[in-house]
Amino acid sequence: MNLKKIEKIAKELSRPFRVTDGKKFRLKDIDPEDTLHLGSEDKPRAKEGLQTGVEALAELQDMLYAQDKWAVLLIFQAMDAAGKDGAIKHVMSGVNPQGCQVASFKVPSSEELDHDYLWRCQKHLPERGRIGIFNRSYYEETLVVRVHEELLQSQKLPPKRVTKNIWKERFEDIRAFERYLSRNGVLVRKFFLHVSKDEQKKRFLARIDNPEKNWKFSSADCRERGYWDDYQRAYEEMIRHTATDEAPWYVVPADHKWFTRIAVAGAVIDGLASLNLAYPQVGAEKLKELAVAKKALNSEE
Ligand code: ATP
Ligand code: MG
Repeated sequence: MNLKKIEKIAKELSRPFRVTDGKKFRLKDIDPEDTLHLGSEDKPRAKEGLQTGVEALAELQDMLYAQDKWAVLLIFQAMDAAGKDGAIKHVMSGVNPQGCQVASFKVPSSEELDHDYLWRCQKHLPERGRIGIFNRSYYEETLVVRVHEELLQSQKLPPKRVTKNIWKERFEDIRAFERYLSRNGVLVRKFFLHVSKDEQKKRFLARIDNPEKNWKFSSADCRERGYWDDYQRAYEEMIRHTATDEAPWYVVPADHKWFTRIAVAGAVIDGLASLNLAYPQVGAEKLKELAVAKKALNSEE
């Protein structure tokens, strides 16, 4: 399949979930079980399609690297067990590891809390020519920190700066930061893997019942499940305030992993395609150099 055809399919699979203007966005409009027109009988075909997508992505990433002008930042946010890790692993599986880096953001360390909240993320921004992936991000500052407001106290902010508008201010700062990145040639794409509460329960139970998955289970995740509605509200607010043309959110249905992965791959391909990447053309000087080298190599004994 040629690249143009793949780019077209990528668009069809991902555009329905893209949010560029948050004002009208409501989380309830996206069904976590949605698989577009595909049924479970299409699963094998979707898996093949993902493979094709992964190969296309590798080709695009190779051009991104050769061109060395744009950087790509992919941000992943989700409730626990929504499949962030699996989506990252599968979608990026074909990409040259030299051109791709993943950073995971957990509970901030005391060193990190001694800085503004963007600091730890800025250190991991991708260089030009590379794809950077944030597994969680500064958006946690409007999610877990909002749901558990006591966390704000440990952030060492001057009390005067913790105003009643703090969440609005954070959205505003994040929007400005992403606009700044965009103006500097960083393509920003954000993913919220939208899993249902029932499906999360199934996945937690599978982690408990299956010895090979036991290591993944954490009681802390179960505790956070108790705040489900607060998190859903926080996610909706976050998307409503930070979805922009230059840094859209993709709210990807996450109850069927096979579908989540093709939709995410589609969005990444669509994003890369928008950069009109091409291998750099070499000039007359370089062509001469190549001809001389070829002659020398061919005349070797
Ligand atoms: P996995 O469980 O698959 O390894 P994970 O991303 O869930 O991946 P954990 O170490 O389980 O990793 O969880 C990270 C935790 O850190 C999450 O509960 C998240 O909410 C929390 N966290 C991330 N950023 C912040 C922050 N800025 N302030 C407070 N907690 C945060
Ligand atoms: Mg976890």
